[in-house]
Amino acid sequence: MNDNEKAFIEIRGISKYFGDFAAVYKVDLDIKKGELFSILGASGSGKTTLLRMMAGLEIPTEGKIFIDGIDMTNVPPYRRPVNIMFQNYALFPHMTVFDNIAYGLKKEGVAKDIIQDKVSKMLTLVKLSEYGKRKPNQLSGGESQRVALARSLIKEPKVLLLDEPLAALDKKLRQSTQFELIDIQEELGVTFVIVTHDQEEAMTLSDRIAVMKEGEFVQIGAPNLIYEHPKNKFVADFIGNINMFDATVIDSNEQDVSIHCEALGGDIVLQKPSRAYNIKEISVALRPEKVMIDKQQPTDENIDFVTGIVEDFGYFGNLSIYRVRTNNGQIIQVSKQNRIRSEHTITWADEVYLSWESDSLILLES
Ligand code: ATP
Repeated sequence: MNDNEKAFIEIRGISKYFGDFAAVYKVDLDIKKGELFSILGASGSGKTTLLRMMAGLEIPTEGKIFIDGIDMTNVPPYRRPVNIMFQNYALFPHMTVFDNIAYGLKKEGVAKDIIQDKVSKMLTLVKLSEYGKRKPNQLSGGESQRVALARSLIKEPKVLLLDEPLAALDKKLRQSTQFELIDIQEELGVTFVIVTHDQEEAMTLSDRIAVMKEGEFVQIGAPNLIYEHPKNKFVADFIGNINMFDATVIDSNEQDVSIHCEALGGDIVLQKPSRAYNIKEISVALRPEKVMIDKQQPTDENIDFVTGIVEDFGYFGNLSIYRVRTNNGQIIQVSKQNRIRSEHTITWADEVYLSWESDSLILLES
């Protein structure tokens, strides 16, 4: 392992109990220096509690956190090389943007000219050079977010913890702000740990994601790994849309696995599974964008397909979503890019063929 790959934040066996209830349970995690890491989970899964333990705002019931090789157990929050940016930004309403950003440095008695210089640089970084004299109530949501970001970065923390950093912004602004956040993080090289319940946000922002459920990590990996190779049904269902069907394993070895899946038309052989399956009942998952929909039967005779009737149809501009009831009564969701203008050849009540590449199928045990 070279220096760049060495864990910068090491979390070892961390638990937090409130009474008998484990909000976080025996979590282990390594985060690299300069990484943009997201903790993703539903409300109440323990994300904020974990973040607060990293910041020193919550004492772990058991386990340890090391940052840059130093045990943080007895290090108070203000001594940690960490800052935290809260969901509501908590800007001081009576102070200007400049003074909000300068606050931490002023409190430490840093010289005026250094403060001036650092705040100006920070305002440039967050593209608010002209806004220093404004008050928070004269800012849009996105601008307030950038002031909060500048304020939490001014003291050059090694780690910035962000609790739902974009939750207060509307959808469109959130998307553009996501990219700004990535740019700023890349420029400064600060390690970002983001807590979010928004899977799209986690996918766009992160180098890696930890999916959290009931206080534990279910899967940790790069966004594409988690999306394309979810470890279990919970992750598959939590990240993006997915069709899930019951199936039975007929035969399985290192080369291929044969399954019977009524919903997908019967017997299917999957080549090169990641491993052999020794259990009989299994789930098969298929992402809507991996399903091809056509009024004509597929010409490739090696491709598996089922037929059905379009029961529902939603037009979203860039893509259309179809809900197709197959001849054996199953609903399969399909999303199709609208590549060509006015390409609405498939609509309600049409009879269609649904097909897929067999390597798009994901086998899941639980
Ligand atoms: P959200 O996305 O809603 O903020 P979260 O994943 O961040 O949720 P946490 O805030 O970490 O979840 O809370 C995890 C669990 O621990 C919840 O069930 C919560 O009610 C509980 N909890 C958190 N703080 C306390 C506390 N101080 N006392 C008792 N229970 C708590």
